[in-house]
Amino acid sequence: MNGTEFPTCGLAFTDLSQASIHALINGLWHHFPENMFLIRVEGYRRFRVAATNPAQAELLSTTPEALAGKRLEEVMPAPEVDAVIGNYQRCVESGEPTRYEEKGVYQDSEGRFYDGYWLTLLVPLANSQGEVDTLFGISQNITRLHDVQNALIRQNRRLERRVAERTAELEQVNQQLQRLAARDPLTDTYNRRTLSSLAEGEFTRAQRYGTPLSVIMLDIDEFKQFNEIHGHAYGDRVLVDTIGAVRQALRTNDILARFGGDEFVVLLPETPLPAALQAAERYRSLVAASGHCTISLGIAEQRADDREVSQLIERADAALRQSKRQGRDQASEH
Ligand code: GH3
Ligand code: MG
Repeated sequence: MNGTEFPTCGLAFTDLSQASIHALINGLWHHFPENMFLIRVEGYRRFRVAATNPAQAELLSTTPEALAGKRLEEVMPAPEVDAVIGNYQRCVESGEPTRYEEKGVYQDSEGRFYDGYWLTLLVPLANSQGEVDTLFGISQNITRLHDVQNALIRQNRRLERRVAERTAELEQVNQQLQRLAARDPLTDTYNRRTLSSLAEGEFTRAQRYGTPLSVIMLDIDEFKQFNEIHGHAYGDRVLVDTIGAVRQALRTNDILARFGGDEFVVLLPETPLPAALQAAERYRSLVAASGHCTISLGIAEQRADDREVSQLIERADAALRQSKRQGRDQASEH
């Protein structure tokens, strides 16, 4: 824009009479609802108010006459005035219209401070030597917009926090549900369904990497009598305590599951038969030492010709039955 034309409508200032241009500027100056001001550039970072429109003066509870001629530092408190001076100085140096958002604090005639947010446009005006000696500014008060924006941001943060909390709660509930679905509620060992999938996985892994996999099957001896003599609740207690004793002897990778009734399975990854026998003996003696009851156990190791994990479990079960036949409170292998 070279200063003589309105760029969008093609109407040239030269088409208007001097009186019309004067009326236009005068009308804008006096009736535009936002702040307008002319700033005299006196030197490096030295600015003086040349004129303000009524809107600007009203904001500061004063009159345009009272503001005219004041140095910027007399109108605005430090340190805010430094930022404003910085913006003015940048506009002088660039020689280009500059638009920016700023936080401003103004002091009125009674010494009260106003702070707010402003969207400011500065237009540098040059003298006949081409030096910028005046800045024309329009400053739109966007404090309310800013407040609304901030309120929205705060609201959004609250919502995000709430969503994060709810997500964490749901995550927790989900984990609880998964745990409930995977485990036997009485003994908190894996249930039969989980055992099936874990056993498949271990069986396939052992086959692929040629590592040993053993299975121990165990069953409480003459468990029925606890129910019959002392009641079902007592039987439950015996079950829980017995399996608690077995649990003490498990290693990190061992998998304990309830097979059904008073029968449990332990999968022992990377464990050959002799080590599994030792583990079974540890379970047996720990349960016996607990004093409630005894257990019988059957042990089997995965063979190269096993096609399915069920074959391994069946051999462990057959070994368990053998232990029962031989008098209980003992471990057999198959
Ligand atoms: P054996 O030495 O031959 O194993 O004799 P047993 O009495 O233990 O016989 P069996 O294993 O057949 O009996 C298991 C009993 O366990 C039968 C059933 O009533 C009882 N039982 C199964 N599940 C539960 C349970 O969750 N709680 C209680 N209290 N009893 C259960
Ligand atoms: Mg039993």
